[in-house]
Amino acid sequence: MKPNLSALPPPPSNPNEELRLTFPVRDGVVLEPFRLEHNLAVSNHVFHLRPSVHQTLMWRSDLELQFKCYHHEDRQMNTNWPASVQVSVNATPLTIERGDNKTSHKPLHLKHVCQPGRNTIQITVTACCCSHLFVLQLVHRPSVRSVLQGLLKKRLLPAEHCITKIKRNFSSVAASAGNTTLNGEDGVEQTAIKVSLKCPITFRRIQLPARGHDCKHVQCFDLESYLQLNCERGTWRCPVCNKTALLEGLEVDQYMWGILNAIQNSEFEEVTIDPTCSWRPVPIKSELHIKEDPDGPLAKRFKTMSPSQMTMPNVMEMIAQLGPGPVPGAQGPSPYPPHPGQHGSGNGGDYPGPGNSYHGQGNFDFPHHNPSGGVGGGGGPP
Ligand SMILES: [Zn+2]
Ligand SMILES: [Zn+2]
Repeated sequence: MKPNLSALPPPPSNPNEELRLTFPVRDGVVLEPFRLEHNLAVSNHVFHLRPSVHQTLMWRSDLELQFKCYHHEDRQMNTNWPASVQVSVNATPLTIERGDNKTSHKPLHLKHVCQPGRNTIQITVTACCCSHLFVLQLVHRPSVRSVLQGLLKKRLLPAEHCITKIKRNFSSVAASAGNTTLNGEDGVEQTAIKVSLKCPITFRRIQLPARGHDCKHVQCFDLESYLQLNCERGTWRCPVCNKTALLEGLEVDQYMWGILNAIQNSEFEEVTIDPTCSWRPVPIKSELHIKEDPDGPLAKRFKTMSPSQMTMPNVMEMIAQLGPGPVPGAQGPSPYPPHPGQHGSGNGGDYPGPGNSYHGQGNFDFPHHNPSGGVGGGGGPP
């Protein structure tokens, strides 16, 4: 059976149009957060880019020099440009995208107007905005496509592990229910659970089923939709249970993926999964009224399928379908830490703590802990 690829977008011809995630690069701050002096209308802020850093920036489409403004009380540092702020870099005026509301402001990306050596940001305001801070930093902007590929390679939870997890889930539910039975009846019947095939983010059929590392539920969300949701101002919270579900801990569920593939050309919205991990689609309402003989084609569509009858999707095919992988040197190393043995369940400790910053970017040419002669330096009026 072929993986369900219908909803994956084709690679765009222009790499700039690709949807990208944004993560700060470690030690990548070029100009530390600064405020404008009260009522200062025009100010210049100088920074330096070493030629090698400038070259790396230009060479790698997944790196940017991000300049943004945020309110000093906003601990999330969400981009927020006061209405009167204007920015030009090396005398080139830039257009600030503010969108429709306060939450749609976009940071500026400066690398295309920068040069090796000395660069100047000029900020012009017509109303004081000393309540805001400005920061200039290097950011890693992998495309959603490359992140999907990375997660498929590193974070696929093989079907047998998914099944073990679900079975364990059933037995723990049964055990806890049994403990609360006062009259000691012979256990509580383990009933099947109902799982939606729709993504809780888009309400459309899930294409690549995933959940967070700490999620306890069987229900999945659509991986690409989740990445898109977190592109701009990511809170990285599971849309099912609201637990933190960071990028590096996400898991792709091969068993659910197999179910989705098995019924990809049908209208079903839910399946029931029993304690043996056999599953069957839940008839949708319009079909409930149809009466048919038990061996008819319709009844066959509702038949129960055990895991051994399923064809599990081939992850390598899927990765290939997503297009060419990152080219060494052009895209850099995979941002994902290696995951030993792909034993995705209940591991913990394999990933750095909270936050989605990347560590140990193999071929970065950026100096670490070198405030004087480093990436940036300078600052303040010339
Ligand atoms: Zn002021
Ligand atoms: Zn969850």
